[in-house]
Amino acid sequence: MTDPRQIAAGIVGAVDWQTEVSGFCRCPGESLHTHPTGKKDCRVSVDGAPTIYCFHSSCAAAVANANLRLRRELGASSWEVVLPGGRVLRSGDVLLGDGTVKTRREIEMGAAHGFSALPHPGPLPPTAWAGEGERNERLVLETLRVLADRFKPELFEKFHWPFAQILSDSPLLVAERDPDEQFRTWLKLWPAHSHVWIGDVYSSGKPEHKTHFRPVADWYQIGPVMGNYTCGAAFKPGSYQRSNANIEGQRFLVVESDTLAKDQIGAVFAYLRRRLHYPLHAIIDTGGKSLHGWFDAPPTKLMENRLKAGLTAFGCDPKLFTYSQPVRVPGAFREGKLQRLIWLKS
Ligand SMILES: [Zn+2]
Repeated sequence: MTDPRQIAAGIVGAVDWQTEVSGFCRCPGESLHTHPTGKKDCRVSVDGAPTIYCFHSSCAAAVANANLRLRRELGASSWEVVLPGGRVLRSGDVLLGDGTVKTRREIEMGAAHGFSALPHPGPLPPTAWAGEGERNERLVLETLRVLADRFKPELFEKFHWPFAQILSDSPLLVAERDPDEQFRTWLKLWPAHSHVWIGDVYSSGKPEHKTHFRPVADWYQIGPVMGNYTCGAAFKPGSYQRSNANIEGQRFLVVESDTLAKDQIGAVFAYLRRRLHYPLHAIIDTGGKSLHGWFDAPPTKLMENRLKAGLTAFGCDPKLFTYSQPVRVPGAFREGKLQRLIWLKS
């Protein structure tokens, strides 16, 4: 029987295996790197949907080609790897961070994620990896989760962007502006016709809450006095309830984490911006323990689901993909501390 690690090594060269199925290798597009190459920049994983992943972006085309080859060659026949303790990992299975195995069949059936079971959940032939479809997408998502978890230490090292650095890197000096200025500067992120919600968490759901949903020009006059929260999305005119059904027009993805410190979350912002090329509009200090990064929302549901799988594994709050979720508005005070912009695009 073939050993998937030999097949992988046949494509990327020698691999410094970190687990039974994943290790560091030389990037297939190393000669195209525009920044110095480190030992841990490129990783190959043969479980799940087999993937070569490099932290550089200039090598993307070469890496994509190598990935096609890797998946084609690994998909040509089924394989098994015997893990310590005698357990067996088969082609398409995923080795989770805690050492447990999630089988391809479990992933396809979506059992662990509460997907409804498919009518005919028979196993797919390995060649189906290259295909489209819901089951294939589940395998991609599960692989993304596991890969993101594996890449986490490298992410926080390579994209390190601590609080003080964010402050001094801001294209516009915003952190020291007064509360009214903070608020009005933030309002400029919105297209002029947008209807924006500002209030406290419960200022929603009843007709009298209409007053919290207003055009940007109104808010410009009123100032930061109607509450501590807003949403990353604009609403239909006349709305009085913050709900996804009432969202219309501009949408920002507000990236936040309950677990990452102010000196850590910047790595996620930097990764999204520099590696995945999501435009960053602003970073807000919530006056508490966290920072919020305001990004363009993913353009499609497919990209949103993939981003969610990765960001959640990095430690971000999955609720951030609920665009009607309240987030802190700059210019308001939280227990004596100003919620403020600390980074703003020019
Ligand atoms: Zn590379």
